[in-house]
Amino acid sequence: MSKNIGPEYVRAIAPYQSGKPIAEVAREFGLDEASIVKLASNENPYGMPDSAKQAMIAAIDDLGRYPDANGFELKAVLSQRYDVPADWITLGNGSNDILEIAAHAFVQHGQAVVYSQYSFAVYALATQGLGARHLVVPAQAYGHDLDAMAAAIGDDTRLLFIANPNNPTGTFLSAAQIEAFLQKVPQHVVVVLDEAYNEFLSADDQYESTAWVRQYPNLVVSRTLSKAYGLAGLRIGFAIAQPVLTDLMNRIRQPFNVNSMAQAAAIAALDDKAFLEKSARNNAAGYQQFTEAFTALGLEYVPSHGNFVLVKVGDDDEAGARVNLALLKQGVIVRPVGSYGLPQWLRISIGLQQENAIFIAALTKALA
Ligand SMILES: *Cc1c(COP(=O)(O)O)cnc(C)c1O
Repeated sequence: MSKNIGPEYVRAIAPYQSGKPIAEVAREFGLDEASIVKLASNENPYGMPDSAKQAMIAAIDDLGRYPDANGFELKAVLSQRYDVPADWITLGNGSNDILEIAAHAFVQHGQAVVYSQYSFAVYALATQGLGARHLVVPAQAYGHDLDAMAAAIGDDTRLLFIANPNNPTGTFLSAAQIEAFLQKVPQHVVVVLDEAYNEFLSADDQYESTAWVRQYPNLVVSRTLSKAYGLAGLRIGFAIAQPVLTDLMNRIRQPFNVNSMAQAAAIAALDDKAFLEKSARNNAAGYQQFTEAFTALGLEYVPSHGNFVLVKVGDDDEAGARVNLALLKQGVIVRPVGSYGLPQWLRISIGLQQENAIFIAALTKALA
């Protein structure tokens, strides 16, 4: 096949590297699947909530029909929860879909997109396929430098991504910082505030981003049910924005982008406060377990507001890959972040207490 097939900007895309599946690691390293601990993709260690499972069982008989293209019931639940009209809501096949829909709805070939160094890989992926220009703003202490991001905005900038908390670094911007930033951003730039880890924030850090949506007509708030709600495999996320933006996103999305099972499960999970609280409690305890261990091992880590921690496992640029391999051999899957430009670091998702302990023991051995 010709090397020149497809646009140059598509050939330039570095494919997304996901956490290794358990079955693959079992095959590659000759391990028993049941013994493998996966702390690689920021999934909920409790799996999916039972409430969602029951809702899916009830929904299964309708799978011969197309899903509700407008997600009426789910939007009604979200509308009430976030106190916005239903026509301010866009559903996505995961929030990844939301990011891509926003890119297609607001950016044309050659226009510019702004995001931070060390921010979520999908911002590059979602916009590179459009032939957009990328303005990657150097990070500050592994997080977003909002002043520099504001300064990077030009006349042809159309979209700007903020991850709060950020993945893979776990850094957090306060409500005051974000609001001061939103006041500075010109109206021709749509800001996507990606809050995939919002549910893990402590009460002190929580803020009302949906109130900003009422105030700022160029703001899109993106959320997912993949992380705290435990529905990563179903692919369901949503965005909240004023109708002008929502209407454009609705034109771009696939008509049946969110399947029936995902809609039914999301309705149940959104109402499952007990599951969410249990997950947040486990996460806080696991964070302490990790950071105490990292301190004891003399390892630097970035203080995290998500359900994962970025930890530095060596000073040379092979360190991440080397320690990752040593962990895989012991049946522990974590996330190397060399593709993010962080080859000395690993990102570890917070698991159940026992899984965290297995990881810590394996890490201690890997470093010895
Ligand atoms: C995990 C993640 C998402 C999206 O996950 P989906 O499963 O597509 O909803 C979005 N943004 C960030 C920063 C993430 O870490």
